[in-house]
Amino acid sequence: MSDIRCADGRFTGVPKKYDFSFSLNTTYGCGGTAKVALFPRSETEGTAIFSFLLNSGENFCILGCGSNVLAQDGRFEGYVLSTANMKGITVPEHCRDDVVLNVASGVKVSELLSFCKNEGLTGLEYLAGIPASVGGLVFMNGGAGGKYIADNVVSVRVASPELKELSAEDCEFTYKHSTMRDIKCLILSVKLRTRRSEPRIVATNILKRLADRRSLPAGRSCGCVFENYCGVSAGKIIENAGLKGVRIGGAYVSPSHANFILNCGRSSSDVYSLIQFVKNEVYKKFGITLKEEVCFIGEFK
Ligand SMILES: Cc1cc2nc3c(=O)[nH]c(=O)nc-3n(C[C@H](O)[C@H](O)[C@H](O)COP(=O)(O)OP(=O)(O)OC[C@H]3O[C@@H](n4cnc5c(N)ncnc54)[C@H](O)[C@@H]3O)c2cc1C
Repeated sequence: MSDIRCADGRFTGVPKKYDFSFSLNTTYGCGGTAKVALFPRSETEGTAIFSFLLNSGENFCILGCGSNVLAQDGRFEGYVLSTANMKGITVPEHCRDDVVLNVASGVKVSELLSFCKNEGLTGLEYLAGIPASVGGLVFMNGGAGGKYIADNVVSVRVASPELKELSAEDCEFTYKHSTMRDIKCLILSVKLRTRRSEPRIVATNILKRLADRRSLPAGRSCGCVFENYCGVSAGKIIENAGLKGVRIGGAYVSPSHANFILNCGRSSSDVYSLIQFVKNEVYKKFGITLKEEVCFIGEFK
């Protein structure tokens, strides 16, 4: 595996991009650049790069679709390990109506659902409209409408740095959390449970979910910024604190959904300052410490 890396650390043979722009590669549309982003195309390449970065003590971050991250302004002195080229969906097992899919971590939710629609596989339609990669979704235990990806996970293959197949139980999924958030690992692929249905039915379910999501705020965001608090909607708490519409520079709290902080400028610092402001105000008013769902890349002051 180490043959993909030159002695000078240039990772020969692996697609890469210098001066990788976070503003062009995250849904927030702000943030500076990283010196280099690496785009492994297989589990072997991903594992080799991840192991090298981990063992060498290099600063690095893992990026899926960039839909739940806020990256610092200026220069991020580290590598980006992007899963954008880790693609592929296979069907390793099926038993009567139950079909297990093996999905590479860089597959987007939209790509996964398009596969399911074509093959007539049901059970994942609740994910429609989430702008995530499968790896990012499993990392965060994302979901919608009261369902979470944990409900479909059979197992997760990770580099940690050695290869491991974690069962759903090993992943210890809870609300917006998985064990992968606690250990340093790269999610390589995920086995997901689906059921046989008909393409027409799956397509209808997807369209319904997409229609339900039309009321979500449009604009540059990371979706919900904070986790719900003890089962209470963080959006409601922020709204009750009177913070809808509050603005710092190019960042503002959505007037329609208070857990969305939208960016209409260029500065991650504005977004970060507003996140901290909301957190402090909620604490002052209600004594509640909201926890960020958004993941930060780099340093913020
Ligand atoms: C408009 C909008 C709507 C949204 N709606 C929802 C929703 O309904 N439900 C929901 O749950 N979320 C929602 N989100 C948030 C976001 O899509 C999810 O949190 C998603 O799981 C992030 O996936 P990603 O691939 O974009 O990960 P990224 O944002 O790229 O990364 C998020 C974190 O996961 C880590 N990570 C990513 N891939 C891997 C990997 N392969 N191995 C290890 N670590 C990895 C990253 O290091 C980072 O810490 C929304 C976001 C937006 C912008």
